[in-house]
Amino acid sequence: MDDQEFKDMISDAMLVPAKERVEQLTSVTLNKKENSSRGTIWKGPCPICGGTDRFALNENTNRMFCRKGCIGTDDHWASGIELIRVLRPSISFKEAVEDWTGTIVNRDTLQAMHDQRAAEADTAAQQKEAKRQKMRERIAQQDLWHSLHTGMTDEHRNRWLARGIPPDFQDVWTLGYTLDLYHQVYNVPLEAIEDEPSHREALVIPYLNGDGYAQFRYRVPNGKGTYHNLSMFDAVPFVTQPDRPFDHVLIMEGAIKAMNGYLWGCGEKYQVIGAPSMNNLECVIPLLKKSKKAVIWLDPDTWIQHNLAQTNWAPAALRLAAALRKSYQDLDIRIVQVAFKSDDAQLDGLDDTLFMNIVNSARPYERWPKLK
Ligand SMILES: [Zn+2]
Repeated sequence: MDDQEFKDMISDAMLVPAKERVEQLTSVTLNKKENSSRGTIWKGPCPICGGTDRFALNENTNRMFCRKGCIGTDDHWASGIELIRVLRPSISFKEAVEDWTGTIVNRDTLQAMHDQRAAEADTAAQQKEAKRQKMRERIAQQDLWHSLHTGMTDEHRNRWLARGIPPDFQDVWTLGYTLDLYHQVYNVPLEAIEDEPSHREALVIPYLNGDGYAQFRYRVPNGKGTYHNLSMFDAVPFVTQPDRPFDHVLIMEGAIKAMNGYLWGCGEKYQVIGAPSMNNLECVIPLLKKSKKAVIWLDPDTWIQHNLAQTNWAPAALRLAAALRKSYQDLDIRIVQVAFKSDDAQLDGLDDTLFMNIVNSARPYERWPKLK
C-alpha cells in the first residue's frame, strides 16, 4: 500500500457514520439525542467504561468523548480509530483503521452520507438564525427590557435587595423582575406556564451584546438558583461599568456576583465583569485588550476536566488564565482561591474589607501549577 492509498483509507475512516459503527462494534445503544451548538450529539453508555449517559458522540463530526476520561477530552473529541485503539491496544494503527472502517468501503456512499448530514446541519443552522433574528426584533420592538425594569414594584425591588443590590443600582443596571417570564419573554400563553414555577417569576438581568441588542439572563427565585439565558443570543460578559476603562479587571462568575463585587468596593479600582456560563468563559478575553491586570475569582466548584488523565483536573480559572496569557503576554494575571462562593459568604458576613483583601491577595498565575 502506498502513502496515497493509506491517506484515502484514513479519510474513508473519518467518514464512517460513527453512531452506527459504535453500536455495531460494541453492545451500547446511543439513544439520547441532543442538539447543541457543536452539532447533533448522541449520548449513552460508554463502550469502554459503561454507565448510562457519560459517553457522547457527535453525528456531524463522527467524533466522541467520555466524561470519565476513557476517550477524547472535552476540547478534543476522539475519532473512531482512537476508539478501536483503546478497545484493542495491541493492534497497529493500520489495523485499527481497517477495523473501524470494517465492511463500509464504498467511498461514494460514505461521501454522500456525509454531504447529506452537512446539508441538514446547514438547514438547522439557518432555521436557528431565523428564530434568533425574530426574537431580536421582538425584543427591540416591544422594548421588553425596559418594561421589565420600569414595571418593578417595591416588592419586586426587595427581591433584588435581598441579593445585595440596592434600588439605585437596580436602576443603574436596569434590572427587572417578572411574574410570568415565559409569557413575557417567549410569548407562551399564561395557562401553559401555570404549573411550571421555573417558567414564571424571575429576576431579569439585561446584557448588552455586541449588536447593541439587550439579551436577558434570569434567575428564578424559588427555583434551583441557576441562570438561564435566552438561547437566541450568543453568550456575552456582563460589564458593570460600560464606560470605565478596562485597565484593572476583576472577572467573577455571573452577573450578580459581578454586581456585588462592584458594590463591595472593587468598583473603584476594578472594572468588574461577570463571565457567563463555564462553557463560555473565554468570551471575556477580547475585552481585556488594553488591560494591565486581571484578577479571576470563580466559584470553588467550577472544576473542569482538561485532559485524559483523571488525576489531572484543573480549575476553570486556571484554564481561563492560560488562555489570557496566550493572548496577552504582559498582562498581570491573578487567581483568587477561596473555598466559598462570594455571594454565600456575603450572607454569612463577609464584609467589604475582607472582600478587597481577598482580591488583593490573589496569587499570580505564574505561581500556579501549569496546565499540561
Ligand atoms: Zn468511558
